[in-house]
Amino acid sequence: MADTNDILKTAEISDFKRTKIIATVGPATHSSEAINEMLLAGVDGFRLNFSHGNHPERDQQIGWIRKASKANNRHVAIIQDLQGPKIRLGDFEGMIQIKKHQALTFKYDVEYKEGGPIPTQYDLAAKVKRGERIYLYDGRIKATVTSVNGGIVHAEAENDGFVTKRKGINLPDTDFGGDIITSKDRRDIVYGAEQDIDYVALSFVQTANDIKRLRRLLKNHNSQARIIAKIETRAAVDNINEIIAESDGIMIARGDLAIETEPESVPIVQRMIIERCMQQQKISIVATQMMMSMMDSPEPTRAEVSDVATSVIIGADCVMLSDETANGKYPIETIMMKRRVILYTQKYSPPIPLMFKEDDKTINGAISSALITLSHQVKAKAIVAETSSGGTARNIASHRPGMPVIMVTAKRRVAQQLALVYGGWVFLRPDSKKQATKLTEFLRQQKVLKKNDIVVISHGKYPGIVGGTDTIKVRKLI
Ligand code: PEP
Repeated sequence: MADTNDILKTAEISDFKRTKIIATVGPATHSSEAINEMLLAGVDGFRLNFSHGNHPERDQQIGWIRKASKANNRHVAIIQDLQGPKIRLGDFEGMIQIKKHQALTFKYDVEYKEGGPIPTQYDLAAKVKRGERIYLYDGRIKATVTSVNGGIVHAEAENDGFVTKRKGINLPDTDFGGDIITSKDRRDIVYGAEQDIDYVALSFVQTANDIKRLRRLLKNHNSQARIIAKIETRAAVDNINEIIAESDGIMIARGDLAIETEPESVPIVQRMIIERCMQQQKISIVATQMMMSMMDSPEPTRAEVSDVATSVIIGADCVMLSDETANGKYPIETIMMKRRVILYTQKYSPPIPLMFKEDDKTINGAISSALITLSHQVKAKAIVAETSSGGTARNIASHRPGMPVIMVTAKRRVAQQLALVYGGWVFLRPDSKKQATKLTEFLRQQKVLKKNDIVVISHGKYPGIVGGTDTIKVRKLI
């Protein structure tokens, strides 16, 4: 922790941001200009939320993102966020008032008539059982199932309130029978596999088998996308170790998680997931309501600033914006504010570097530990990691070094995927062994490094070979 007087000074805005920003694209940012501004404001990953919109709109957005990335020479990730079994009420006019102890009925795709079953977009009767809870409208209405018959779900309301059309339904007790990938998701997966997508995020994951199933589907469609598991159910929290092991990254989807579990457990789950992801070299993403008040206001609340700062301090790879950039009035200001909070926090209270991971007995883990110690001891300006699959770079970054990790790869897909990794400053180099041996020269040409900078470099004897990292060098640039 820095001296208090130091803390009062403003962080250098030109500093390199180690925690990454993901922003959701939506109606507020649906233009080439907006995407370019988002990238310039500090976005490292663009989330396309497949709960909304259609494929022609996605084609446009993907094109704009890649154009902006090329124009600014910055590698950014695109995340396809699948809807999953997100269940919603159907269409009806106006609002339905609900009273405590009222008997409610729900039916799939029915036309609503006053006093009749409330329409749903999913056949609840096929999944829910007596005694299970049904939460409507982000948990504002709580009800318990009393019976299921003739395709109609009967429930008793536990509180007063109202619902309007298409509001979300949460079923915290319901077992989806091991199949959370819907037919809409399957169509979206086929679409995504044909596009320039770097990550697929799976909603309402319950077990590691959900991830295995998605991985098989991606493989069948020749997709190279990595998988992010969205943790938003109690079952996912219970199965977290197996889910982290099968996934490439975890999103702490705090909106639904708080409804499906309880709000007070979410910060603890968040912390636990970030720590375990660091241990297993998986990316962690903190999502939802991070700067929600900036939907309508040019300034965030103190609590929101504190939430972003906490995520930085505890070592999250990414902090995400949802509605703020999809539908808010101040999308660019929100990204800039988040960037300011990240820069300030990482300067005065960065995550504590993991010099040594007790559980990691691999050669790569040992090389990363040695490299981190060395880099701090010689006060290196940066770590330079030659990486083919991205594995070495992720391994080093998972130790949360206190300086940027310049990640150099010859593969565009890997460069885009590394954009979400903590501390990563990603460069794509020409695919030749000769170039790889002249890495620091290449980075000087790119104006990344200057004379007298000390860097610690890791690479393999045969650059470009996956898993071949075997060398650490310390260089003072002349
Ligand atoms: C969430 O619930 O926090 C979340 C990120 O999921 P969704 O895709 O529903 O916004």
